[in-house]
Amino acid sequence: MRIVVIGGGVIGTTTAYWLARDGHAVTLIERGHELAAEGSFANGGMLHASHGEPWNSPQAVRQFLAWIGREDSPLLLRPSRLPHLARWGLAFLRNSTLRRHRAATHANTRLARYSLSLMADIQADTGLAYDAAQTGIAKLFWTPGELAAAMRESELLQELGIPYLRWSTDELIAREPALGPIAHRLAGALYYPDDRTGDACLFTRGLGEHCRRRGVTVLTGTVVRRLERRGRRIAAVVTDAGELEAEHVVLANGPEAPWLARSLGLRLPIEPVKGYSITIDGRGLDGLPRLPLIDDRHKVVATPLGQRLRVAGTAEFAGHDTAIRPRRIQLLLTQLGALLPQQAAMLAAAPRRDWACLRPMTPDGVPVIGASGLDNLWLNVGAGHMGWTFAAGMGRMLADLLAGRPTALPPEPYRADR
Ligand SMILES: Cc1cc2nc3c(=O)[nH]c(=O)nc-3n(C[C@H](O)[C@H](O)[C@H](O)COP(=O)(O)OP(=O)(O)OC[C@H]3O[C@@H](n4cnc5c(N)ncnc54)[C@H](O)[C@@H]3O)c2cc1C
Repeated sequence: MRIVVIGGGVIGTTTAYWLARDGHAVTLIERGHELAAEGSFANGGMLHASHGEPWNSPQAVRQFLAWIGREDSPLLLRPSRLPHLARWGLAFLRNSTLRRHRAATHANTRLARYSLSLMADIQADTGLAYDAAQTGIAKLFWTPGELAAAMRESELLQELGIPYLRWSTDELIAREPALGPIAHRLAGALYYPDDRTGDACLFTRGLGEHCRRRGVTVLTGTVVRRLERRGRRIAAVVTDAGELEAEHVVLANGPEAPWLARSLGLRLPIEPVKGYSITIDGRGLDGLPRLPLIDDRHKVVATPLGQRLRVAGTAEFAGHDTAIRPRRIQLLLTQLGALLPQQAAMLAAAPRRDWACLRPMTPDGVPVIGASGLDNLWLNVGAGHMGWTFAAGMGRMLADLLAGRPTALPPEPYRADR
């Protein structure tokens, strides 16, 4: 069948890949001049099934309210955004009950595990190089109370097949000597051996090349302006370079998806949540961490990617604004400096690339995968803070649903009309 996939981020590209593997004639459309031009360009690099918990846990919601308007907080809700957030925000709060939050965590964790299991399949088929590492990930904690709370969550995750180890501070330092200077301030760590890391941008662009060789038409620098609806079907995809007809259309354009959907009369509850990263060129720098780290309190990750160190974090409800604000970059550098005080000055002066982009976030924190309500339009959107981790699984689920095959996971938790 002829299928158009809109959006060449990590989700759209993996979707195109699985559809091509099924033998379809696929066209992938991306408005950037290269694939992974936006949200998938420089994310935290973590493929972490241990991190599927949506952000609206009952405890976190209380914390968020205290952070409103605070520039130095990991999560910044700009007061100017509040009027636009009413509907989405209420749904976010509605989904923060223990029962709903737990159900969403289960859905995400299952999807993440499935997704990581498929990465081996993609690797065997494509041989992609994307600075991947399978070292596991350590989450560190500053107080025994924070560690104990995280352990309770991790015990629940263990029931879903996510193993973890509790490390004393000594064990953490033995594995990650770079944290030695702050050992006296730490309470310990949780280590997730099955988690991995890799560069989502290298993966997406490499997979895009592989798709091209497999016969996928990859149109970069092409903007989809609108979708032309005829009755219950999409009759044409209208781009700035002309119109395309297809038997099926997949919407995978991340935070922009609601705009194209709205003109068809569909409402997609996806809010852009801005995040930042810095990528430090680690060549010639001593004492950088070798183990991927998460500082849970400050919501920041430090991920070695080949010879680079990627530091990512912060969440900002500021609409579709991707401007890089020096103050938020400084916050990341300060948080990194708190982890590596002896290297702080060297890291701040090292060559680096600053970046900001938007996470496409649903109010329950679970992505939307599957039918749209129109006969030939499919949705693969809303991966939020987990899109790199979810990508292989979301792409494969969508290809299975479109083919009418049984999916490896029950599709209900991810349906648009859930
Ligand atoms: C700071 C930060 C750190 C993160 N860290 C992690 C992490 O460690 N692990 C993890 O799993 N996830 C992480 N994420 C989340 C992850 O990056 C996203 O969920 C993922 O990139 C979303 O992918 P996507 O393909 O849905 O969206 P995108 O990557 O944004 O792709 C959508 C694409 O659609 C294109 N597009 C939009 N509109 C149109 C149009 N009209 N016509 C043509 N093209 C269009 C855009 O140019 C874009 O390239 C992080 C996100 C951020 C911001």
